[in-house]
Amino acid sequence: WAQRLCSAAWGDTIFAVSSGHGRCGVAVIRTSGPGSRGALQSLTGRPELPPPRVLALRRIRDPTTAEPLDRGLVVWFPGPQSFTGEDCAELHLHGGPAVVSGVLRALGLAGGLPGLRPAEPGEFTRRAFRRGKLDLTAAEGLGDLIRAETEAQRRQALRQMEGELGRLYQRWSETLTQALAHLEAYIDFSEDDNVEEEVLSQVDATVWALEQEIGSHLQDGRRGELLRGGVRAVIAGPPNVGKSSLLNLLCQRPAAIVSPVAGTTRDVVEVALNISGYPLVLSDTAGLRDATDPVEQEGVSRARDRLRQADLVLAVLDAAAVPAEPAALGAALGSLLPPAAPPCILVLNKADLLQGGGGTLRDACARGDPLPPATLLSCRTGEGLDHLLALLARQLAQLCGDPLAGSPSLTQSRHSLHLGDCVAALARYDRERRRDLGLAAERLRLARRHLGRITGHVGAEDVLDIIFRDFCVGK
Ligand code: GDP
Ligand code: ZN
Repeated sequence: WAQRLCSAAWGDTIFAVSSGHGRCGVAVIRTSGPGSRGALQSLTGRPELPPPRVLALRRIRDPTTAEPLDRGLVVWFPGPQSFTGEDCAELHLHGGPAVVSGVLRALGLAGGLPGLRPAEPGEFTRRAFRRGKLDLTAAEGLGDLIRAETEAQRRQALRQMEGELGRLYQRWSETLTQALAHLEAYIDFSEDDNVEEEVLSQVDATVWALEQEIGSHLQDGRRGELLRGGVRAVIAGPPNVGKSSLLNLLCQRPAAIVSPVAGTTRDVVEVALNISGYPLVLSDTAGLRDATDPVEQEGVSRARDRLRQADLVLAVLDAAAVPAEPAALGAALGSLLPPAAPPCILVLNKADLLQGGGGTLRDACARGDPLPPATLLSCRTGEGLDHLLALLARQLAQLCGDPLAGSPSLTQSRHSLHLGDCVAALARYDRERRRDLGLAAERLRLARRHLGRITGHVGAEDVLDIIFRDFCVGK
C-alpha cells in the first residue's frame, strides 16, 4: 500500500472506521479530503452542513436508494481547522455491524460516491503530518498513546503527542541555527573590526553546552524506551525453586507449566504485566544448572541469553536452602548470576517451609540488608507477595523514571541514532574549528540536519512508511 500511497493524489478523499472494530455502542466513521463536504451532504440528504465542529443529529441515508441506514450524530470540520488540516467529517453511528458496513458501502466501497476510497493504516495522521499539523515525534507519540497499556506509558505518550519532545529538539535546532549564523558572520566579516573574536568563543561555548545537553539526554539509561516497550524481566534460579509458580502467582493464570519434575520449563514463557502503572514483560526460564539432556541444555543456554539481555532479574532461591546470614546470601546469589548482570530482586521462595519461621532471613529482608532488595515469599500461601510487588514497583519506577518529571525522555532508538550522529557532528566541530572554520560550520549544519530528521523537518520520506506502518486504519 505504501506504493499506492506515494502515487495517490493528495486531492482524494479517504474514509475509515476510527472507533474499535466489532460490535459496540457507537461507531465513528471519518473522512478526510475535499470530498468530505459532498459525502456529508449526500449521506444526510441535505445541501446545508451543520455549523463547524458542532454535533448535529441527522438521518443517514444511502445516497443512491435514499434508504435510511441509521440516525446518528454528524460533525463537520472544515479545513484547515481539523485533525488532518483538510476538510473532515465524522459520523457517530450505532455500532452494529450492519449499520457500519451499510454506511461504509454507501461511502464508496461499492462506488456509491465518486472520489472516496478506504484509508490506509495511519493515513489520517500522515496527512496531518504533511499539512504541518504535527511533527514526527508527535505522530509517534500519538501512535504510542493508542497502544499504551499502562498509566505510565500513557503519560509519556501523551506528553510526546502534545509536542514536548518535538519542541525540545526544535529548540536545539534553533540554537544551532543561531550559532551557525554567528559563525558565518564571523567568517564573512572577520576582516572588519566590527565582528569581535568574542563572537567565536560564544559560538564555541554554545556548541559545547548543547553537546553536553544532548549527551545527557542520550544517557538517561534508556528509561523512555523501557517504558515504551516494557521492562524485560526474567525469572532465574536453580531448578525446582518455584520460578514457574512465581510467574503464575504474578499473572494469576497458568501461563507456565508448573510441575514438581526438575527441568520441566524448557522453553521460555513470556507474559506482559502491569505493575503500579509500569509495563513489565516477564519471562520464566529453564532452571540454571549443568544439564546433560540436550533439550534441557538448550533451555539453559536460552535462559542465560535472556538473563544477559534482561533489564531486570528476579532471582529465585529456595528459602530453606540458603544461608540465613545476609552476607553469605550475597555470595549464593553471586554464583547464580553472571558478572555485570542487570539489576536484581532476590526472591526467597517456599517461606512456608522454613523451620522455626526463618526469623533471621525475614528480619534481614525487612531491613533491606542483603545486597539486592530481597523478600521472603511463598507461592503456596501468597505470603510476601505484597512486599514483592512493592519492590517491583520501586525498581520499575527507578528504571523508567517518572514520565511527568523533568524534560521529556527519549523514547525511540530512531531518535537516539540521530541524536548520536548529532553529538558526533558537534564533537567534530570542536576539532575542525581550530583548523578550518568553513568545515566547522559544515559540522553544525550536519548536526542540525540530524535533529531535523527526528522531527521530520528534514528528509522524512524514508521513515514515513515505517512510522505509520504500525498505526491502525482510521487513525
Ligand atoms: P521451577 O522449576 O523453579 O519453575 O519450580 P516450579 O514452579 O515448577 O515448582 C517446583 C515445585 O515447588 C512444585 O512442586 C511447586 O508446587 C513447589 N512450590 C513452588 N512454590 C512453592 C512454595 O512457595 N511453597 C512450597 N511449599 N512449594 C512450592
Ligand atoms: Zn519452571
